[in-house]
Amino acid sequence: MIYFDNSATTPVHPEVFDAMLPFFKEEYGNPSSKYYTLAENAKKAVEEARFHIAELLKCDPDEVVFTSGATESNNMVLKGYLDTRSGVRIITTKTEHPSVLDTAQYLESHGVKVHYLDVDTYGFCDVDQLDTLLESDHHLKTLVSVVWGNNEIGTLNDLSTISSICAKHGVSLHTDATQVAGKVEIDLSSQVITFLSLSSHKIHGPKGIGACIIKKDALGIRTKLTPLLHGGGQEFGYRSGTLNVHNIVGFGKAAEIAKRDLRSTMKHLAELEQYLLQKLHEKLSGILHLNSRAATKIPGIVNIRFEGVNNELLVKKLADHFAISTGSACSSSKPSHVLQSIGLTLDQVRSSVRISLSRFNTRDEIDLFIDTLTR
Ligand code: PLP
Repeated sequence: MIYFDNSATTPVHPEVFDAMLPFFKEEYGNPSSKYYTLAENAKKAVEEARFHIAELLKCDPDEVVFTSGATESNNMVLKGYLDTRSGVRIITTKTEHPSVLDTAQYLESHGVKVHYLDVDTYGFCDVDQLDTLLESDHHLKTLVSVVWGNNEIGTLNDLSTISSICAKHGVSLHTDATQVAGKVEIDLSSQVITFLSLSSHKIHGPKGIGACIIKKDALGIRTKLTPLLHGGGQEFGYRSGTLNVHNIVGFGKAAEIAKRDLRSTMKHLAELEQYLLQKLHEKLSGILHLNSRAATKIPGIVNIRFEGVNNELLVKKLADHFAISTGSACSSSKPSHVLQSIGLTLDQVRSSVRISLSRFNTRDEIDLFIDTLTR
C-alpha cells in the first residue's frame, strides 16, 4: 500500500515508537504521584516532551497544555474563552476544520454572535473583512479563530497580518495549526497568538494526543480559560485527568524530530509536490484541474479534480494499492465545505481528490501512482 493520505494521519516514526515502548512496560508511573522513582521518571518524561513541543513552536514549556488532540484543543479554546467572559463574539472563517466550525455553530445556537469570514478562490480568508468587523461592536469581547493551514487545499492564511490586526484591536487570536506543525516554521515568540491547537498524529506521533498552547500575557500572567474537564487540576488547571504518559512521550519525540528535520522535510515535500504536479500535467492535462492553487500553501497537499470523474469511484478503484482521499477524513461523507467556499460547484466538488504527501514518500511511489491513475 502506498500511502498518500498524510493529512488524515501519518505513520508513526520508528524513533517515536521506540521512545514510547518503555512507558507501556517498566515506566508505568503516574506523573502526579510523588517521591518514588516511577512517578519521578514519568514526570521527567512528560516535562521533556513538553520542552520539545515548546521548542518546535518557540513558546515556553509551561504554555504547552496536553489534550487528546486538536479537536479537544479547539473546543477547549472556543468554549472555555466564552465561559469566562460575558458579551463575547467569535470571528472565524468559512474554511475551518469541523472541530472549529461545529463548535462555533453550537455556541451560536446558544446565543453567541459568530461571524464567518469569506475566503477567496485560493482559500485565503478576507483580512480586510476581519479588520472592518473588529472596528464594530467594541463592547463585545472578541475571540478570532483562524486556521493556519487548511487540511484540504493547504492554503496558508497570512497569520502575521491577522495577528497584527488582532493586536491592533486588542483581541485574542486562536489558530488551528494542526496541518502546519512540522511543515512550516512556527515562531510563537515573534507573533501575537494567544492560543494554538495541534495534534501529534499529523507529525508522525501517536493518535489521541495533542496540545493547546495557551500563551501567557506580557506580565507572565496565565490567560483565563474555563476547562472542559474539571477534576485533579493537572495541566496548570486547564485540563484535568491522569496524563497519557506513553502518548505524551511519543508526541514529544515526534516534535523533537519535526524540529530537527524541519528544513529537509519542507524541501522534500516541496520537491515531491512539484514532481507530482509535473507528472500529472504531462499525463492528464486534458482533464486535470488544480483546486489547491494558493501561492503560499503547506507543501505536500495537492487537491485536484478530473472532469467527469466521480471522486469516490476513483478513490475506491485505487484503494487496493494507493490511499488517497475525497477530502477531509472527518467529513468525507459530506461534500466539502472548503471546496464550496472557494467557489467550486457540487459537481466539481464530487470530482475532487486530495493527495497528501509525507517525508516518507518517494518519487518511485509517485511514478507508480501516475501509471495506475492514467490507466
Ligand atoms: N484541525 C485540522 C486542521 C485538522 O486537519 C484536524 C484533523 O484532521 C483536526 C483539527 C482534528 O484533529 P484530531 O482529529 O487529531 O483531533
